[in-house]
Amino acid sequence: MQVPLLDLKLQYQNLKQEIDKAIMDVVESQRFILGPTVKELEDEFTEYLNIKYAYGVSSGTDALLIALMAIGIKPGDEVIVPTYSFFATAGVVARLNATPVFVDIDPVTFNIAPEKIEEKITENTKAIIPVHLYGQSADMQPIVEIAQKHGLKVIEDGAQAISVRYGDGRNVGTIGDIGCFSFFPSKNLGGFGDGGLVVTNDDELAHMLRIMRVHGGEPKYYHKVIGGNFRLDAIQAAVIKVKLPHLDGWSEQRRKHAEFYNKAFVESGLAEETGKTKFDDKNKILLPKAVYKDSNVKNYHIFNQYVIRVEKRNELKDFLKENGIGSEIYYPVPFHKQECFKDLPSVDDDYPVADMAAETSLALPVFPELTQEQIEYVVDKVTEFLQK
Ligand SMILES: *Cc1c(COP(=O)(O)O)cnc(C)c1O
Repeated sequence: MQVPLLDLKLQYQNLKQEIDKAIMDVVESQRFILGPTVKELEDEFTEYLNIKYAYGVSSGTDALLIALMAIGIKPGDEVIVPTYSFFATAGVVARLNATPVFVDIDPVTFNIAPEKIEEKITENTKAIIPVHLYGQSADMQPIVEIAQKHGLKVIEDGAQAISVRYGDGRNVGTIGDIGCFSFFPSKNLGGFGDGGLVVTNDDELAHMLRIMRVHGGEPKYYHKVIGGNFRLDAIQAAVIKVKLPHLDGWSEQRRKHAEFYNKAFVESGLAEETGKTKFDDKNKILLPKAVYKDSNVKNYHIFNQYVIRVEKRNELKDFLKENGIGSEIYYPVPFHKQECFKDLPSVDDDYPVADMAAETSLALPVFPELTQEQIEYVVDKVTEFLQK
């Protein structure tokens, strides 16, 4: 049996008629840059996320970059980021000649460890970028409190987490000063190319984001500030508009698959329960746990990735591949070990949790259209390998 890590063809087949028509409508209109389609999508997002302003941008990376530009990050400023994330989270900071300062992660959620943030704050610190990794909210309340205490801005990296809610019911991306999302095809809400979204409740930041998106001119051709071309393409907006109403249903499917995996691995005796953080005889596999569960909130983990940890990770990955199962390592190298960051003064050896995650984590297929048969096959093969 073949079980790819992700198969986007199935999603497209289910929506093909609607999507093809939406694309052709843009083609017929010949209005490719911003325009009515992008505006309609932005209006839908302000409602869906319950936020005052939402702007389509060119990618998730550019969403982060424009957010940092809008809050005025300059050379020499420091921005705190988790050391374990997709490269863009730290890359955008360095591209502005500011310094990314790395913080270790929480051993259960893989998100930035709030209790390790304050020791990294200096007089140059300007902002914190919590990442809602794999589709689970970072613990925002302590992060926002620390930011307020030290006068820092909070830019949320929600690239993997659009529609996720924090325990108090607020959408991630709407809790800090600016929220950033990605429509990269493999995200939970993916376009047919690159795209992203920035959101804020702040009038002044909204103004900056709006003009930064079109080179910073206001009025056009008169520049007080320097922005860039950070526009969302109307064809992408058209595709995402068709997909948005399906997002919650897809997330439910992902959550069901994740729950099935968790139960099955506990039943097979490979783990005592979810959320364990140390390997031993009873825990050959460490399973993801959905936390912030205390409220009646639905979408607290939407499993953009379902990530387990196993000691013989590379061998398991090879074994799964031999058996037709796709898996991936998110991420093999934490920021503090990236060659491009090796000269940063902030790098130290203080990242045991991220180091362990980089050595042991493996994402298994969890996309909505997986069949029960496929998931059971993955469970069987992982179990077969670990019981060897
Ligand atoms: C995907 C991703 C990004 C970047 O988004 P792009 O649309 O690919 O530029 C940023 N941060 C995280 C955590 C991501 O997963």
